[in-house]
Amino acid sequence: MKRILISKIKEKVSETVKIAGWVDVRRDHGKLIFIDLRDASGKVQIVAVPKNKEAREIADTVRPEWVIEVEGEVKKRPDNMVNPDLSLGDLEILVKNIVVLNESKTPPFEIGTDGYEVGEEIRLKYRYLDLRRERLRKNLQTRHNVVKFIRDYLSGCGFMEVETPILTKSTPEGARDFVVPSRLQKGKFYALPQSPQQYKQLLMAAGVEKYFQIAKAMRDEDTRGDRQPEFTQLDVEMSFAEQEDILNLAENLFTEMVHEIFPKKKITKIPWPRIDYDEAIKKYGTDSPDLRKDKNNPNELAFAWIINFPLFEEKKENGHFAPSHHMFTSPVKEDLKKLDTNPHDVRSYQYDISLNGLEISGGSIRIHNSDIQSKIFDLIGFGKEQKEYFNHMLTAFKYGIPPHGGIAAGVDRLVAILQNEPNIREVIAFPKTGDGRDLMMDAPSEINKEQLSELGIEIHPAGRNKKNKK
Ligand code: ASP
Repeated sequence: MKRILISKIKEKVSETVKIAGWVDVRRDHGKLIFIDLRDASGKVQIVAVPKNKEAREIADTVRPEWVIEVEGEVKKRPDNMVNPDLSLGDLEILVKNIVVLNESKTPPFEIGTDGYEVGEEIRLKYRYLDLRRERLRKNLQTRHNVVKFIRDYLSGCGFMEVETPILTKSTPEGARDFVVPSRLQKGKFYALPQSPQQYKQLLMAAGVEKYFQIAKAMRDEDTRGDRQPEFTQLDVEMSFAEQEDILNLAENLFTEMVHEIFPKKKITKIPWPRIDYDEAIKKYGTDSPDLRKDKNNPNELAFAWIINFPLFEEKKENGHFAPSHHMFTSPVKEDLKKLDTNPHDVRSYQYDISLNGLEISGGSIRIHNSDIQSKIFDLIGFGKEQKEYFNHMLTAFKYGIPPHGGIAAGVDRLVAILQNEPNIREVIAFPKTGDGRDLMMDAPSEINKEQLSELGIEIHPAGRNKKNKK
């Protein structure tokens, strides 16, 4: 007999089925032994009775998290025995046969709870057990649903998903790069992308026109709030687009996604409010204001656009300007002349999405003229050498790159808000600690002498982090 998913027993009442999964709970009621059996699709109660001696004996030995296979008859439970907390609580399986497929040690923590009460270090160390709990299963499933919706929606709008390299050159997004030493080009390093920014613009130069990617982005930042060294972005870029096109695309995508996947959620205002950066700062003291009407309501989603950012932030100590978004962001057409006279007053085509007081997305219309791009490099203080670093961009701009713009949204943060989770680690399968460690894999780890010598790298004794050394 072929194993079926537990959720499918609904269609098999009075028939004999074979199911398999993990022992959730075992209850010994003397003559009868009850086991709640769980698989990826659901949970059902199975009953071992004395008449079936052999199966009852095995049922007596099994313990939580053992993996077993059960053959038995699907029965309707009497009305007064229905368990309303289980989706299959009106059914049970009368056991004929049990096979133990694998035993399990006693798990280091409860799996049947929501897990908030368990220390996070131990949850992350045994993440594969932590992920067995229903709350995290649901988070992973919802994340999948969200990403699938995005992929389908954008594909339907004519966008194409293109993968861009992970081993690349530094992307100047303002954070520190993670670097990877090259064995074949000794002494040289790749950088892991802080975002696919330059590649997606070069895809516009390549004539792709409508690009998206569910992309990994990596930034070597110090522990600061709820961040991860690697995170996931929905990355989008579009040719011949003006700000209005990108705003409409992203607003419709997220609004429809909420309606379809989260029908219980209410968006505070549609169309989303659009607030000038200056006004947001003046009125709310932040560029990601929380516009919910009732902050205690877990089902309210207050999306807002923040627009009309200044191109540059306050002048840096060295007298140079720092881009407010990134250095590829286009100045507003009418303000172009001010780049020579008073750059500080230049506005940009930058836009952010704020959701319930958190910035979940940002983007801009880009510069597509190499002279303007070069001028921005000057203003942010790039010398000849630094400019050369971006030669590929300046050169590409000379081969007929179309006007273009895009946006990126943080998928982890978005899903965490939608799932009412307190932090993004709850919606990431294998997250790292605040100080960047993967407690399950024990990463980062030292590498052996041969690996180091192949790379031509020597670790200075003073460079070792004593605290994390075993
Ligand atoms: N690359 C930008 C970021 O990661 C987003 C964009 O401008 O599209 O913030």
